[in-house]
Amino acid sequence: MHFYVYLHLWRNKRYNIMFNSVKDLEASLIENFASEIRGELVFPRDATYDNARKVYNAMIDKHPGMIVKCVDVADVINAVNFGRENNLLVAVRGGGHNGGGLGLCDDGLVIDLSGIKFVRVNTSEKTVRVGGGNVWGEVDHATHPFGLAVPAGIISSTGVGGLTLGGGVGHLSRKYGLTIDNLLEADMVLADGSFVTVSANQHADLFWAIRGGGGNFGVVTSFKFKAHDVKTVFGGPTLWPIEKAEEVMEWYHEFIHNATEDLNGFITTMIIPGAPFPEHLHNKQFCGIIWCYVGDLEKAEEIFKPILAMNPLFEHVGQMPYPSIQSLFDGLLPPGLQWYWRADFFSELGPEVRAQHLKFGSNIPTPLSQMHLYPISGAASRPGNEDTPWAYRDAKYAGVIVGVDPAPENAEKITDWCKKYWEALHPYSSGGAYSNFMMDEGPDRVKASYKNNYDRLTKIKRRYDPNNFFSVNQNIKPKNN
Ligand SMILES: Cc1cc2nc3c(=O)[nH]c(=O)nc-3n(C[C@H](O)[C@H](O)[C@H](O)COP(=O)(O)OP(=O)(O)OC[C@H]3O[C@@H](n4cnc5c(N)ncnc54)[C@H](O)[C@@H]3O)c2cc1C
Repeated sequence: MHFYVYLHLWRNKRYNIMFNSVKDLEASLIENFASEIRGELVFPRDATYDNARKVYNAMIDKHPGMIVKCVDVADVINAVNFGRENNLLVAVRGGGHNGGGLGLCDDGLVIDLSGIKFVRVNTSEKTVRVGGGNVWGEVDHATHPFGLAVPAGIISSTGVGGLTLGGGVGHLSRKYGLTIDNLLEADMVLADGSFVTVSANQHADLFWAIRGGGGNFGVVTSFKFKAHDVKTVFGGPTLWPIEKAEEVMEWYHEFIHNATEDLNGFITTMIIPGAPFPEHLHNKQFCGIIWCYVGDLEKAEEIFKPILAMNPLFEHVGQMPYPSIQSLFDGLLPPGLQWYWRADFFSELGPEVRAQHLKFGSNIPTPLSQMHLYPISGAASRPGNEDTPWAYRDAKYAGVIVGVDPAPENAEKITDWCKKYWEALHPYSSGGAYSNFMMDEGPDRVKASYKNNYDRLTKIKRRYDPNNFFSVNQNIKPKNN
């Protein structure tokens, strides 16, 4: 190790400074590093810096000291070693969608995986190999011609990395489980720079930990997923005036968990902001359900009869290619909006809970702010709470409230509504939240979210990342305190 780095480490220890700043590193160290990297290094002085440090949530404004745009596994290994040897704070960026901006950090090093993209479909095995920096739309695009799909979320620009490592709830959850239930194997670069492949038969402890434990254990450079026969689905939104929210939610709770597993539907309180919806709906508050049926299309109309018997004010359900339902809301939610997130798991939608949804759903502060409840039933509820770190398989919903708006001056307004909505519902929650729907709620919330799995995660963290090198995430500490 270079003398200069020793000096920094000594100074940091003495003054209790945790990390070096990239800008204080000697130029020769950075030059050596640059010579080991095939991708691009981006610094604050570069014209491309502001673009490179942008993430999906415009509320996040972090200034890394250096961004390494990795193009292969060797780049990732070199970046991990450089970060560790120089005592830098390191963030790993997949799709950059995380609400809390956990793909970025201030001062330190960002390992940006967006240059590690590939999707290889194996039609005989029905498996898909995906790069650590892909987004879901790219996976859907590659698998669709073969009539295959991997369970993911509901927006196609979300990163495969973050969504998978946190769990992955979406349109196919009831039929085929969470994304982690379809993960077969992953290639990883660990904190010591070593490279491993993890699966049920190799590093089984690590394989268990990454199926919900987030980016705490290493950088995943490639995922291998099980794919399913999904080509054309029958789905879309049904909307009721917000005044009917309590009635619709009561019906939905009974209906969805007893429906065929071919059917998924997440329920929301929302505003219809404008086109492509008809004008008479614009800027009104609704209770909506977004459906996705993956069964026999000839039976679809029969399946939807009880839904349409609830007399939605508006419905737009019908056949569409799976990638279309996956990108249905992409246009409404482009990158660059302000987002504030709060989340919880719920088991019930009792009268008090429904009353709060009516109250806050009637006072949505901006057209894009919304609440979603994703059902955890069918295949998503079959694994036990301890089979993966995702500890709430027995809850009925993964809930999320998001305050969203393009205008930074509305940041306080959307944050305030989101927090108050969450505070009103939290007493009725199951305790923790789905980690991918959280923002920055601190260590107690992380523990609550992993519940009985937290200790096991801590032990695995201690084994593979004892110095908490991967700390910019919903952090699992190597020490259990
Ligand atoms: C509009 C929108 C819609 C969403 N819809 C859904 C949904 O339907 N279902 C759902 O489950 N979630 C959903 N999410 C939440 C989403 O799963 C999380 O935001 C997730 O963290 C995004 O992953 P990312 O790779 O894009 O994020 P990033 O910000 O790049 O990373 C998030 C975290 O994951 C880590 N990470 C990312 N890639 C890797 C990797 N390859 N190796 C190691 N660590 C990595 C990062 O270090 C960071 O800690 C949605 C988010 C948004 C903004």
